[in-house]
Amino acid sequence: MIRINENYSKLKASYLFSDIAKRVNAYVAANPGKSVIRLGIGDVTEPLPPVCIEALHQASDEMGHRSTFKGYGPEQGYAFLRDAIAQHDYAARGCPIAADEIFVSDGAKCDCGNIQEIFAQDVRLAIPDPVYPVYVDTNVMAGRTGPNVDGRYEGITYLESTPANGYVPSVPKVATDLIYLCFPNNPTGAVATRAQLTEWVQYARQHKAVILFDSAYEAFIRDPQIPHSIYEIEGAREVAIELRSFSKTAGFTGTRCAYTVIPKSLVAYDAAGNAHPLHALWNRRHTTKFNGVAYPIQKAAAAIYTDAGKQQTRDLIDFYLGNAKLIREAMTRLGFSCMGGDNAPYLWVNTGRDSWEFFDLLLNRAQVVCTPGAGFGKCGEGHVRISAFNSRENVEAALARIAAALK
Ligand code: PLP
Repeated sequence: MIRINENYSKLKASYLFSDIAKRVNAYVAANPGKSVIRLGIGDVTEPLPPVCIEALHQASDEMGHRSTFKGYGPEQGYAFLRDAIAQHDYAARGCPIAADEIFVSDGAKCDCGNIQEIFAQDVRLAIPDPVYPVYVDTNVMAGRTGPNVDGRYEGITYLESTPANGYVPSVPKVATDLIYLCFPNNPTGAVATRAQLTEWVQYARQHKAVILFDSAYEAFIRDPQIPHSIYEIEGAREVAIELRSFSKTAGFTGTRCAYTVIPKSLVAYDAAGNAHPLHALWNRRHTTKFNGVAYPIQKAAAAIYTDAGKQQTRDLIDFYLGNAKLIREAMTRLGFSCMGGDNAPYLWVNTGRDSWEFFDLLLNRAQVVCTPGAGFGKCGEGHVRISAFNSRENVEAALARIAAALK
C-alpha cells in the first residue's frame, strides 16, 4: 500500500497568500464594481529593464541558428553569468567569492527549500519569527519538526523579531545547527548592521553551525553602513551559504533566475565528526536534480551587470523605494510606528490590533489589500506588511483611501 509523507499533515492547512486571495475574491464577488488595490503579495509590477529585453531577443536569435544553438548548459550556470556575479556582487564589495562557488538556479525559493536536503535529519533549526514561510514549511515537509502546537512547530528555536529588539533577533542562548537569516527582511523590512551580523557569524563558528543567509532584497539597501553580503563579515566563508535572486533586483519574478553561494571552505560534519565540504554535496545534488537555467534567461540576468544594466536596475529599485517612502510617511502620519521601507520594499506596520482584523478593515473600508502579520508567525501578530511593489498611481490612491478610512 502506497503511503503519503505524513509530515505534510503537520502543515497548516493552506498557504498564507491563498487565504488572502480567498478573502479578497469573496469581497470582490460581494462588491462588484469596487476596485481593489493590492499591496499584499510581494510581486513586482514594473517591466524588465531594457537591457534584459535586448539580451533575451539576442539570445533567442542565437537559439535559432545551428552555429549558436545551445542545448543542455552547465547545471551550475554559464561562466559568463557566474563570472559577472563574482566580479560585480562580490569582488566589488571586497568579498572573496570565486565564480565556481556560485550555483545559478531558477529561484531563491527553490534553493532555500532544497538546500536543507544536504543536512542531517536531526539538525537543530533556528528560524526567525516572523518569517518568509518557505523556511519553516520545507523543514516541516522534511520531517525535522514536531507538530504545530499553538502556532509553533516543536523542534524549532524561534528567533523573535519584535519592536523591543528593533526586529533584528540576536543569537539564541541555546546551540543550534542550521540558522535561517534574511536581510533586508521579508516581512519586516529590517536590515542587520555589521555588528549584528558579526555576532551571528561568531555564534555559528562557536557552534559549528551553518547560516543560510537570504539576501533576496539586497539591491534595496541604500544605507552605506549596511552590509550587502554576509561575506563582508570576517569568517563568514567558513559558516555561511548566501541566497540571492534576480526576482526583486531586476523584476525577474516571472522570468526566474537566482543563485546560491557555497564557499569551498564551508564544511559540515558526519556522525563521526569528520568534516565534509558542502560545496561538493550541493554540486552533487544540483547536478543530479537540476538541469540549468535557460540560456536566454541567463543572458538577460548577465545584462544587469553592464553599465546600462546597473543604471536601469538602480532606477527600477529607486522607483519602488519611492513608493515605500510614501507608504512609510503616510502610515506614520496616521500614527503608526513602522519598520522598513528605507532599505527594503516592505513596510512593517505596528497596528496594535489583531492583524487579520486590520486586514479586513483595510479591505472593507479602503479596498486595499495588505498582508496580515500573523500569517508570517506568532510575532507578526499586531502588524501588517504593506508592499511597495505597485504603480505610483496605485500607491497614491491606496494611501488616500487608507487615510480616509482610518480617520
Ligand atoms: N526569499 C525571500 C525572503 C523572498 O521574499 C522571496 C520571494 O518573495 C524569495 C526568497 C523567492 O525568490 P525567487 O523569486 O528567486 O524564488
